[in-house]
Amino acid sequence: MIADLHLHSHHSDGVLAPAALMQLVAAQGVTVAALTDHDTVRGCAEAAQSCAALGIAFVPGVEVTAAWQGQELHVLGLGINLGSEALHTHLSMVRRLRQARLLEIGRRLERKKQLVVGEAIEELCKTHDSPTRLHLARLLVVRGLAKDIAHAFDNWLGRGQAGYAPVGWPALQNAVQAIREAGGQPVLAHPHRYKISSGALRRLLAEFCGVGGLGMEVAIGGMSSNDLDRLAQLARANGLMASTGSDFHDPAIPWNPPGRFAKLPPGLEHVAVRLQR
Ligand code: AMP
Ligand code: MN
Ligand code: MN
Ligand code: MN
Repeated sequence: MIADLHLHSHHSDGVLAPAALMQLVAAQGVTVAALTDHDTVRGCAEAAQSCAALGIAFVPGVEVTAAWQGQELHVLGLGINLGSEALHTHLSMVRRLRQARLLEIGRRLERKKQLVVGEAIEELCKTHDSPTRLHLARLLVVRGLAKDIAHAFDNWLGRGQAGYAPVGWPALQNAVQAIREAGGQPVLAHPHRYKISSGALRRLLAEFCGVGGLGMEVAIGGMSSNDLDRLAQLARANGLMASTGSDFHDPAIPWNPPGRFAKLPPGLEHVAVRLQR
């Protein structure tokens, strides 16, 4: 089994349509795939159909934005029921926050830096169900205002920069609850990427378990073997299931293809196994 349970399509900040994404995923040897767009499940029906035709297993998913103690977090909802009203209501609310944030970023960039991006952002909000800062970063690169995506975040969009706009995302427990109400497995995404101390990460994981979290990502594309061991240890210590995924967005970024991540260390239950029972 090669389970890539973290993939983005053009319904959020990925660049491929769900069907094209799943073709690439299958070609990379993945046998179980989840579509996990940011705060939208719009691509799941197309992805499911494509996986069925390709003969690989499909897991309907979503990557839900949330907050914990002022820290922005992502929680994967895996194996969700796509008809869940509770989940739809929650995701619509998060997407409204996303749209409002992007418009606010546009205002801040115009006010502080006289950058005229408001119209492009309004267009982005009209054409995208779930607009993200990555869309905006790409725009800044195209306009020649940043040399690459990393610079767009470092110089314009990241915390403390002219285009940074804080958001009151729903609390972690609300995200977990919406996923549970849809029959999904809440899985904390990329815990090693949060800029918090190791003590805070331990508290976060304890609280995540306390509010109904069931798994965490352990093997992710591009991570160090140190992080892999550390996350595996944290999953065991908290009795959390483990997940694997690439967090793939864009075929133009060749070092992070679908299906490329470390093998899960021993002593862990894979979420994909639970989902297929
Ligand atoms: P948002 O969820 O709107 O804050 O957008 C964040 C998205 O941008 C993430 O899901 C990543 O795909 C991408 N991203 C965030 N930070 C960076 C970065 N420093 N370099 C490249 N991509 C990033
Ligand atoms: Mn993303
Ligand atoms: Mn994420
Ligand atoms: Mn992601």
